[in-house]
Amino acid sequence: MKLSEEQIGRLQQLLERPGQHIVLLSHTNPDGDAIGSSLAWARLMERMGHTVSCIVPNKFPYFLDWMPGIGEVLIFKNDPEKSAEAVAKADLLFCMDFNAISRLEALSDLIAANTSARRVLIDHHLSPREPFEVNFSHPESSSTAFVVYSLIERMFGLETITREMAECLYVGMMTDTGNFSFSFLTPELYRAVAVLAETGMDIPAIHNNVYNAYTADRARLFGYAINRKMELIHGGTVAYMSLTEQEMRRFRFQQGDSEGFVNYALSIKKIRMSAMFLAHHRFIRISLRSRGEVDVNLFARKYFEGGGHHNAAGGKSYVSMEETIEHFKRSVEEFARDGYLD
Ligand code: 5GP
Ligand code: MN
Repeated sequence: MKLSEEQIGRLQQLLERPGQHIVLLSHTNPDGDAIGSSLAWARLMERMGHTVSCIVPNKFPYFLDWMPGIGEVLIFKNDPEKSAEAVAKADLLFCMDFNAISRLEALSDLIAANTSARRVLIDHHLSPREPFEVNFSHPESSSTAFVVYSLIERMFGLETITREMAECLYVGMMTDTGNFSFSFLTPELYRAVAVLAETGMDIPAIHNNVYNAYTADRARLFGYAINRKMELIHGGTVAYMSLTEQEMRRFRFQQGDSEGFVNYALSIKKIRMSAMFLAHHRFIRISLRSRGEVDVNLFARKYFEGGGHHNAAGGKSYVSMEETIEHFKRSVEEFARDGYLD
């Protein structure tokens, strides 16, 4: 990965004075990459003599509960006072795995209130929306964890990576590449994995901890969603599913239980785009996935106030489930008319 020497110089300058308060932030519904890249980077910042807090807006999925250092992650929704205290004291804010403060949702106001902290971006999403003092925006990277790995290599040397840090970085790389099956699987990424493996991390154990740690309720919800809720439109090339709050309650839904549902429709040969609508208290969260040329980042921006990556994006809707689905169907037709589904 080509890191900017100018940005590295600026970051080194910002980190020069020891004993600073650093806050590592990551996005709402934090995933393996958000948590993994934050926890690994936290260890490096501590090595430099800084005090570090990792903050996320809401709970991470329970299949990440085992990650080394996970106990230190502050969940704003559960612990608003402690989070506010850490943010108010912060000299430096790192935005890990997201590039628009609005992705912090309820936590955004708190961040906006600290106008003196310097902001650093370490991310792999498309088109950062705010200016950052130091900017490592790498949409060509399959994960933020791989950006962090590259920063460690350049700034500290690969020998500083402990087994615990390797596990965190590996979780980020593994989850954001769909277990090494999506795009951006470069030789450099596999070389990085080889270096991480040299720390002695147990790859099958990590895989089991993340992918085989669900509840029976989640397995039944998955069966229900595929069997009863999956609809195919546009000549069988676009799939969507929805889950209402009532359905989620019925299967004792926990944060993270719907992980992978939206990807599943892409296992059908003809499907080029897949959507999932998940009801929340005040809005509906949309997850989008696509194959090849179909640009769901564009679709999410155009129709659902969202964004993300070319083949994986998301957004929100503030109308009812029925209206959201109608809007989705109309949007698919328009998107196709504009030639984006060819
Ligand atoms: P997921 O479907 O896994 O929640 O999200 C897929 C990708 O889209 C992730 O990279 C995520 O950061 C991005 N994404 C999800 N929801 C939103 C949103 O509301 N706004 C933006 N800008 N990106 C989103
Ligand atoms: Mn990511």
